Amino acid sequence: MLAAYVDINKKLKIVNIEKPKIKKNNSLIKMIASGICASDISTIKGINPMATYPRIPGHESIGEIIATKGTSSFEIGDYVTVFPGKGCNKCTNCKKGFINHCKTFQVVGCNYLNGVFSEYYIFPNSQLIKVRKELQNNYGALIEPFACGIHINNKLPKIQNSNILIIGFGVIGLICGIIAKYNGIKDITFIDKNINRKSQIKKFGFKKFIHLNNKTDYEFFSKEFSSIIDTVSNEKTINMSIEFLKPNGTCVQVGLPTSDILINYKEIFKKELQIKASRMYFISDFYDAMEIMINNLGSVKKIITSEYRIDQFLTAYDKVINNSGDQIKIIIKNKSNL
Ligand SMILES: [Zn+2]
Ligand SMILES: [Zn+2]
Repeated sequence: MLAAYVDINKKLKIVNIEKPKIKKNNSLIKMIASGICASDISTIKGINPMATYPRIPGHESIGEIIATKGTSSFEIGDYVTVFPGKGCNKCTNCKKGFINHCKTFQVVGCNYLNGVFSEYYIFPNSQLIKVRKELQNNYGALIEPFACGIHINNKLPKIQNSNILIIGFGVIGLICGIIAKYNGIKDITFIDKNINRKSQIKKFGFKKFIHLNNKTDYEFFSKEFSSIIDTVSNEKTINMSIEFLKPNGTCVQVGLPTSDILINYKEIFKKELQIKASRMYFISDFYDAMEIMINNLGSVKKIITSEYRIDQFLTAYDKVINNSGDQIKIIIKNKSNL
């Protein structure tokens, strides 16, 4: 079978390897579609501090079970997605379902097991989630990023007539916007440095876009938001969040800056701001993600902008890193399924 593989020297290549053998309490899954995510890019580039090698990356998936072992509710023919987080299952955080707070937290395709950029993969049944009927197609590969979006949105206070700024119109920014709108927030603004994103937001029914590099756009919008979701999370955007929030406002930081940064604490104090962070998700977020996706299928269908076969992975990877703003989500398909 074909797989995208990052070797011990952090070099990405397409390899032809043997199909994994089914093990006790595991299922063997045939890939239907796997999404390429920004965190896969940093794993492949060798700049993800958590990643270990060699490894098949990838964690956004939908596939079909072709063999299963052990006692579980899974059967051959079931469509499943992988829950990428892995905790110790013993600590108080894990017992409450807060796996992402476990001290030994690991991630599929990064530092735990091989990921989903291969024609077949095996996973412990405990890492699998059944995919609902409406999403048993390419859209199933979007359940994981939607779960991220759910986790982020759940950090926002529920206030009426709130307005929200979303910094960065990537997949996560867009998905956060779709979820915020579904949750009843009417006033949603995106800010991005890429002007090509302006026409993208309209396709999803959003109206307000600020072009970060355009002085007139930037200087004359009202910098008064009750909530901000910052999907970029560098020194500039975190301080932008602090500056643009109303008193008592909340911002949710989604990323991890690559180095120590300076933030304007004085402003946080003066306005009594809440600065929160969102790290991945809980298993429950995956079920909420499927529910919201099914209720927003019209938007979900527009998120995947390109499909490549696994043997074309290097081309797909190039397209992701050289995205000029016309692409949203690029997915990888099984060779025989495209
Ligand atoms: Zn992802
Ligand atoms: Zn734990």
